[in-house]
Amino acid sequence: MSEQLLEVSGLKKYFPITGGVFDRKKGEVKAVDDVSFYVKKGETLGIVGESGCGKSTTGRLLMRLIEASEGKIVFEDKDITSMSKSELRKIRRDIQMVFQDPYASLNPRHSVEKILEEPLIVHGIGTKEERKKKVREMLKVVGLSSYHAKRYPHQFSGGQRQRIGIAKALMTKPKLIIADEPVSALDVSIQAQVLNLMKDIQKEFQLTYIFIAHDLGVVRHISDRVGVMYLGRLIELADSEELYENPKHPYTQALLSAVPIPDPDIKRETTLIQGELPSPANPPSGCAFHTRCSQCMDICKTTRPEERNLNGHYVACHLFKE
Ligand code: SF4
Repeated sequence: MSEQLLEVSGLKKYFPITGGVFDRKKGEVKAVDDVSFYVKKGETLGIVGESGCGKSTTGRLLMRLIEASEGKIVFEDKDITSMSKSELRKIRRDIQMVFQDPYASLNPRHSVEKILEEPLIVHGIGTKEERKKKVREMLKVVGLSSYHAKRYPHQFSGGQRQRIGIAKALMTKPKLIIADEPVSALDVSIQAQVLNLMKDIQKEFQLTYIFIAHDLGVVRHISDRVGVMYLGRLIELADSEELYENPKHPYTQALLSAVPIPDPDIKRETTLIQGELPSPANPPSGCAFHTRCSQCMDICKTTRPEERNLNGHYVACHLFKE
């Protein structure tokens, strides 16, 4: 569990804002702004934050579905950021993605068999017979039956469609799965089933996960470590238990206070986050959270807090010194 599978350093993605008659660049949205982290083999790293914090952009950058403005992504000692298209195609066998909306990611005109076979065809894996056998095997792995292979996406419920999305991601035997809000669109009762399935297949296939979510409650039981993003920056990262028991950053504390506790005897004060999320096109100076932080000091308004390492608990906030 200690070996690193992925290392991200200084990752940035700035989208230009253009306008006017000549479509000139007027500014930029810093969707991901200097993000660094690593993922160990076999672990699940949760990445959490409000919509617009850059978590999904980070996921897409890791797959190189979009190009980074700066930074390095190293997967199994190979730098993904500088790879040619053909090298990248090979590596995509090892890194797969599960999307929030399985309906949008599954071609409605194709049968489940065709959908699941496609990644094998793209990567030139197996004969026709072997591919069909694999489709049926994988349907069983995700809790569906072989007769489902002939059906079409609209004939399934949301939870079943996400199972098909997971099966599709598994077809090429990947090492890393980036799951972008995989249960957000599902009913709460179905969420737990899909999360349990993901946990089971992680063990069975020795998978490593990056699990992106907007809710700290969802990632708690699946993540070994959790990182919290705010306006394109990673502001806190720690072992899951440590982060939930001892959150340090005021933003994480506020997010956690909003997560319901199943035990009615435990009372927790809810800390409301003041104000609206500022625009990533015009983030506040200094600490990007200072406009909403109840503990804001003068230095927070002018100076961006460096990331501190407090015995493996990383936090970027002026309240903490190493
Ligand atoms: Fe609040 Fe300052 Fe810490 Fe930012 S650096 S979270 S404004 S205390």
